[in-house]
Amino acid sequence: MSLLVVGSVAFDAIETPLGKTERTIGGAATYFSLAAALFTPIRLVGVVGDDFSPSDEAVFRGRKIDLAGLERAAGESFFWAGRYSSDLRSRETLRTDLNVFAAFDPKLPEAYRDSSFVFLGNIDPKLQRNVLKQMRRRPKLVALDTMNYWISGARAELVKTLKLIDALLINDEEACQLAGESNLLRAARKVLRMGPKALVIKRGEYGSMLFHDDSILPAPAYPLEDVRDPTGAGDSFAGGFMGYLASEGQASHVSLRRAMVYGSVLGSFAVEKLGVDRLRTVKRREVESRARELVRMMHMQL
Ligand code: AMP
Repeated sequence: MSLLVVGSVAFDAIETPLGKTERTIGGAATYFSLAAALFTPIRLVGVVGDDFSPSDEAVFRGRKIDLAGLERAAGESFFWAGRYSSDLRSRETLRTDLNVFAAFDPKLPEAYRDSSFVFLGNIDPKLQRNVLKQMRRRPKLVALDTMNYWISGARAELVKTLKLIDALLINDEEACQLAGESNLLRAARKVLRMGPKALVIKRGEYGSMLFHDDSILPAPAYPLEDVRDPTGAGDSFAGGFMGYLASEGQASHVSLRRAMVYGSVLGSFAVEKLGVDRLRTVKRREVESRARELVRMMHMQL
């Protein structure tokens, strides 16, 4: 089934102890789309500047990614620069130049307005609501991502938006900040009272947790020996999670649990190379084989 994503398409400068790039294609919607397109056709809504060339756009070509919603504006594309610590566990943002992204006002092409699955990437919560207003009918599942900037700076707007969505995917710090709680379970309970029926809390290499239907599923990250670049891991997790659900055409409890495995697997591929390099080459059969391996690792009986 069709999966609509709204979010950033960017140029990134990334510095890790194992490699460096001055300018590579990035952005949350880029990572999300590359991961999710392994499962289902994607409709991408974002904005790029006139510096975004056909060779940059090539990253999306040859995949089931529709770019009719990728707006071109006069000016420069969103630019983000980050540097990782030697153990890759922390990251410093060196630059965020919003450029054309500052005036981003997502407009859905007519053909996108019937999408069954929607992922509202990390943008102004008011704009996230505007996207929903443009839908012709209520999608089967609306999921949302956000960040500390909106949680502290646009809290009232975010709270309003949370009432309209089905699933929230955020990291542990964001969940605690949103709930004003330092304990993750207490934070999750509070966040679930704010609107979403499902909550996914991502914890990087420590895995993730799904809260749904009064139950908790702790899912491990796929263990990796060589991690090159954590950029976009969360967005790729979201892409694997939502891509799988859209391919199933439903968001039942069992599907949500399986989607956690695909989220972990896509997050693990994303970090294996710099930028989106690994997501550009990964094949569906590699995804399936890693998913089966992860499920085998998780399985136990007492
Ligand atoms: P993550 O590692 O999951 O935080 O994702 C990193 C990606 O998010 C990079 O490719 C950036 O271009 C993009 N990004 C960084 N800051 C923002 C922001 N404020 N809004 C939207 N996207 C961003």
